[in-house]
Formats: sequence, structure tokens, C-alpha cells
Amino acid sequence: MTELTLRPFFWRPTNLFPEKRIASRTHDGITDYTYHEFGTRVRSLVGALLEREFGPGDRIGTFGWNHHRHLETYFAAPLSGAQLHTINVMLGDDDIVHIIEDADDDVLFVDPGEPLETIERLWDDLPVETVVVMADSVPETDVDAIAYEELLQKADPIADNEFPHLEEDYPAGMCYTSGTTGRPKGVEYTQKMIYAHAMMVMTPAGLHIDETDVVMPVVPMFHVNSWEFPYAATMAGATQVYPGPSPEPADLLELIEREDVTMTAGVPTVWINLLEHVDEHGGDLSSLERIVVGGSAAPEGVMRRYDEEFDVTMEHAWGMTETMSIGSVSRPKSTMEQWDSGRKYDKRKKQGLLSPGLEMRVVDDDGNEVDWDGRSVGELWVRGPTVITEYYNRPDANEEDFHGNWLKTGDIVCVDDDGYIEIIDRTKDVIKSGGEWISSIELENALIAHPDVVEAAVIGVPHEKWQERPFACVVTAADANPSETELLEFLDDELEQPKWWYPDEIAEVQSIPKTATGKFDKKILRDQIDSKYQQ
Ligand code: ADP
Repeated sequence: MTELTLRPFFWRPTNLFPEKRIASRTHDGITDYTYHEFGTRVRSLVGALLEREFGPGDRIGTFGWNHHRHLETYFAAPLSGAQLHTINVMLGDDDIVHIIEDADDDVLFVDPGEPLETIERLWDDLPVETVVVMADSVPETDVDAIAYEELLQKADPIADNEFPHLEEDYPAGMCYTSGTTGRPKGVEYTQKMIYAHAMMVMTPAGLHIDETDVVMPVVPMFHVNSWEFPYAATMAGATQVYPGPSPEPADLLELIEREDVTMTAGVPTVWINLLEHVDEHGGDLSSLERIVVGGSAAPEGVMRRYDEEFDVTMEHAWGMTETMSIGSVSRPKSTMEQWDSGRKYDKRKKQGLLSPGLEMRVVDDDGNEVDWDGRSVGELWVRGPTVITEYYNRPDANEEDFHGNWLKTGDIVCVDDDGYIEIIDRTKDVIKSGGEWISSIELENALIAHPDVVEAAVIGVPHEKWQERPFACVVTAADANPSETELLEFLDDELEQPKWWYPDEIAEVQSIPKTATGKFDKKILRDQIDSKYQQ
């Protein structure tokens, strides 16, 4: 028996689907090529890495968006025995320097444009010696850089029997948490973990990716390996579409229409913005069958609009950097086939059933497991071959966040008697008012159901009597101006919770700060609100 490594993820598509295509948007426009060409280029890159003596123990950092060159590094780095460390290009300078220093990357593959400018600006603080610019040529720069295409041209593509020996426990991937709730923490994936997770994503019980799909991963490749889509879609031999640097709704729509995308994936804000764009400018979503949505809670109204107006099923998934992304997916079971749409949506909008290969516990403050009754609330603990059991270089966090081989997710959930997980909130975002919990997510979902509200984020602000009270920020549609009273009245119908759950204040804001992956950045929002209060 061979070990569980990425070799078959490269062998299968390049040998069995050599004619299938990978389309990619880069700074230079949209290009496409076949899996055969992809294979040759990956062999060249592995050759180039081996010539430079990269292999087990080395870390190759990438700092770029979703495109074919980045996909090639996804394969070439671990196939050469090295570890691929994908770095979030949207982080602040301090975090970027911290992450690159902490991981001690040996070389950086960087996108031209803003990412390269960031690296140039931080160059003196970085331990890295060389940069490979993921482009045809290197723009004028002070850093020691070589162009990706030049690197490939100069290299000898390696033959099948020249691939280095790999072991399943070799570190193959590394991501940092996006730091939504604190300093980013390093998470390492072995060859075996990537194998297991991509298989899980590919199977029908996961996300069911197959050769007939045209897959467009919108989740950035610098965020939890783009939820493993690049590995799973390649293994499946699916046609792939990579949307390039900071894609706007118009770019996504262009690619969906041009490439007949059937399946795509990303955080809710991406799909909310696409809907707005289509509402305003029109667009053809007829090829699209499924959108995998996760990273934060998917609003039911958005799921329904895609379903009812465009015949697109939104599959709601939950996951974390620590679980290699996708850890659960919500779709009604076959036994629910006859249920009416309302009951089915009650399931769809939850975070769903745990992915095959994982186990879970829901644990209360006293460490006891709570019942799966749709009411009892506790912290979600998960374990399995795709769940980490420690952070890189962070013994302090290890003590807090793990219990044996269980990961304490920091997500407060309740599970119903059908086994569907529902995230109530994150332990760090839940609002503790007078000793009771108020779910920021539930309030946000209720507010965003209002037709004039485009985005809603709720945070806890300090309160003398109640310790914390909910404070809501909403972004409203361009020509709408709903009053606070109107929104509070709307909650009477929409929010099935007592009055003390209602936000003390609903502020209209221009925009809500977001992390690189489009999640609300509540750390920044809290700072903004705090400074407003101090004025
Ligand atoms: P960060 O922890 O920095 O936000 P991650 O991407 O690892 O970075 O975030 C994982 C967290 O995102 C989960 O613990 C959970 O709180 C939240 N999350 C992920 N998917 C969903 C979802 N479908 N619904 C609600 N929250 C989600």
C-alpha cells in the first residue's frame, strides 16, 4: 500500500483528463490551458524547486490570489516534499511580518501589483531571501526577484520516476487563522491530512465534486487552501475557473457566463454582492447549479432568492482553518424529501451535518455534554483526521483550545434531534447581557431580512448594569433610509426573541469593516464603536 500523499492528486487528472481545461484570470486577462499543460508546468516547477534544493523541511510561502500559477505551486511545493504556506495578502503589515517570521519561509511566490508592493515595503523586516513574481516578467523592484515564467523556462520538467519520495506525515500545507478573534495562529497540514480532506470534499457526502463540474473557487487561495477546492477539483478532473486578483461581482459574473460555471464557493458577502450586481445590471446565472457558502452564517433570504429566482442551490457549510475548512454541510436528508419548503429551509440555514470522518461533542461550561434537542447550547468540539491537535509554535493556545485530540472550536452551537448543527455564535462574539446570552448572528440575520438592509453586524458594547448590550451597525440600500424605529418594529415580526435581545442602538454606517475573506471584522468594528463612544 502506498502512503496517503498528493501524488495521485497529480497523477489522475494529468493522465485521465489531460484535455480538460483550467481557466484563469490574471493581471494580464483571462487565459486557459489543459490539464496536460498544467502537468508539464508543475513538473517544471518541481524541477526548479529541486534544483534549488528545496524539499522536506523547507517552507514555500505564497502571497497571491486565485490563478493558475498559484494552483501550480499548490502542487509543486508539496510534490517536491516542501511545505506550502499560503499567506493572506489582505492582512495588516504587522501580521504579515509576524506570520512570515513565525513560519520562517524560505522563498515567497508573490503576485505582481499590490502584493509585491507590500513585500517590497516590508522587505527589510522579512527573513526571506528571494521572491518569485507570479508573472511573465519582474517589474522594477529592489528585492531579489525572479519571474515565475523565467523560472519555469529554465527548469527541466521532471519525469514520473524523478518525483522525490514523499511520506504521508510530511508537513505539506500551512495556513494561519485569519485573526478574526486574535493574533493569527499557525496551522499545519500534512500530506495525509490534505489527502483526507480533499477526498471528503470531493465525495457526495461532502460537496460532491465530479468531472462534469465546472468549478470556480472564489474563496481566496490564501484562505484555508480555498477550502481545498483546488485539490478536490483537480483530483476529480473537473474543469476549473480561477477568478484572479480581488474579483468584483462583474468579474465573477463574466467568468460564470463565459465558462458556464456550475459550482462555486465563497463567503456570504460575495453572493450578496453578486445578487445586487445582477439586480442592477442583469446577468445570466443559468449555468450555475450550486453555490457553497460558509465562513459566516448564510442569510436565509439570500439562499431563497438564489433558489427561487435563479434555480441555484446554496449549500451552507461550516468550517475553520483548524478543520482544513469544510467540516459540515447542510442539506435536507432523503427522509425529509416530502417536507414543505419552510421546514427544509429550517435545516438548510443551519450549519448542517458533520462531514464524514469527523466526530463531535457539544459541551457546556461545566464540561458536560449537552443533549441534541435543538435547545441546549454548548461549545462544539470536533476531532478527526482533518482536525489539528495543536497550533504551530503556540503552546499557550494549545492548552486553551484543545482537550486531548478534541479541538474546542470556540463556536457556541445547539444540535437538533436530526443531528444538524446550528451555530449560535462564536464564544468571543456572543453578547453576555445580565448573565444571559444574546446571539449576534441571530440579530444580524433578523436585520438583514429587512428589504432595505444590505449588511448588518452586531457587537456587544460595555454596559454598567448589564455588562454588555447589543449594538447594531447596518448598511442600507442606496435609495433607502429606514429609521431605527422602523427597524426595531421589524424585529417584532422577524426575531423570535424577547425584547431584551433588541439592540440598544442601530447605527447606519457606510460600510462594515471586513477581513480578507469578507467576514465582518468585529475587532475593528469594536474599536471604531469604542472610539465613537469615547468622543
Ligand atoms: P477566523 O477564526 O480568523 O475567523 P476561520 O476562517 O478559521 O478564521 O474562521 C472559522 C470560524 O468561522 C468558525 O469557527 C465559525 O465561527 C465561523 N464560521 C465558519 N463557517 C460558518 C457558518 N457557515 N456559519 C457561521 N459561522 C461560520
